[in-house]
Amino acid sequence: MRVIEEGKIPEKETKKRCSQCKTRFAYTPADVQSDRDGKYVVCPGCKTFIDVTPPFTGYH
Ligand SMILES: [Zn+2]
Repeated sequence: MRVIEEGKIPEKETKKRCSQCKTRFAYTPADVQSDRDGKYVVCPGCKTFIDVTPPFTGYH
């Protein structure tokens, strides 16, 4: 098989609002960090660690 034209897989973004500083941001799986307690992203506004360990119910 040979590739004639390479397509792009759209990055899967998840939108979230920080519960601390109310910054809205979108992150991709590449932004998710993990430690032994679970998975988290860092808020771009206040640098708070936001837990995104599935199942994530969200801040709505
Ligand atoms: Zn924040």
